[in-house]
Amino acid sequence: MDMRLLDHAKFIGVTVCEDSSVNAVTMSEGRIMNLTSRRGNGEKFEVAADLFIDATGRSRVLSKLIEKNERRHDDHTAKNSSLFVGFKSHLKGANAAKGTCEIYLFPGGYGGLSPIEVGLTNHCFLVRSAVAREFGGDANKIVENVVFRNKRAAKTLMKAEPIRDWLAVSIDCFGMADLNPASNLLTVGDSAAFIDPFTGSGMLMAFESSALLAETIFLNRDTQEIIADSYHAKYRQRFAGRLRVCSVLRRAALVPYLPGFAISLLNLSKRSREFLADATRSPKLRRPKVL
Ligand SMILES: Cc1cc2nc3c(=O)[nH]c(=O)nc-3n(C[C@H](O)[C@H](O)[C@H](O)COP(=O)(O)OP(=O)(O)OC[C@H]3O[C@@H](n4cnc5c(N)ncnc54)[C@H](O)[C@@H]3O)c2cc1C
Repeated sequence: MDMRLLDHAKFIGVTVCEDSSVNAVTMSEGRIMNLTSRRGNGEKFEVAADLFIDATGRSRVLSKLIEKNERRHDDHTAKNSSLFVGFKSHLKGANAAKGTCEIYLFPGGYGGLSPIEVGLTNHCFLVRSAVAREFGGDANKIVENVVFRNKRAAKTLMKAEPIRDWLAVSIDCFGMADLNPASNLLTVGDSAAFIDPFTGSGMLMAFESSALLAETIFLNRDTQEIIADSYHAKYRQRFAGRLRVCSVLRRAALVPYLPGFAISLLNLSKRSREFLADATRSPKLRRPKVL
């Protein structure tokens, strides 16, 4: 999918700089003047523009470079520390039925498992950073000692083994971040807001927010202030409700005994399950099949 998007961008005339990463911004009076980027071979180059978009995902590279710049000026040293660590790997030997998705709640986190191709399953879970530290960041130990406190997970995953190293990411905030960190910088995708992985709709939000910003820029081409205000208003209208519901669900998932009680209630009513699934995604794409 990424390759198709990239090929299409090139086809319609976008200049794509591959194998390069942005590592500095030059600011003047609250505006980005240019970005400094470095190619894989170490060569540096600069990019100047009227308007910049931070689409660097959870790392929010441009936004953080600006925050760093501002901290330098304000002599303010506050730093975000990570809240959760997310782990993911493909497993062999899990006892999961095809076409199902199991969600596990356990003390200090939650996770999910779903079968993928050639008899493998995708296992993904989030734990509080303190839990990850307690086990030295060793995903296998966390599975055995923490995830397996969920009896269903222990039963399904007892004989499962990862077929490759676990991938790990730190997550330092959920919900909406700054949509307009500098007067000529706007954010999309995970850089704008990080929706909980259990909704399975992070990619959808990345597409929707990018389309929303593209449309806003197209309609207000020459007026950056109006672009920012209009994007802010439309973004809130489209996503604030979803992000609020996810925040309530995430907090509830980490309260002892509440998840079990809530799941028993949801088991009784298909309508309430559908309502919950609807509340975490776009109205246009509502009604996924709820089992
Ligand atoms: C554990 C976990 C499970 C998930 N499961 C799902 C799921 O089942 N379904 C779903 O839809 N979503 C899921 N997501 C969320 C999904 O992965 C993201 O929401 C989505 O990829 C966001 O897209 P994005 O384009 O904003 O960011 P990304 O996909 O992260 O893309 C950011 C891009 O910016 C580039 N970049 C970063 N730094 C620089 C730099 N300095 N210079 C230049 N380029 C840079 C990166 O190389 C990357 O290509 C999950 C997330 C996690 C953590």
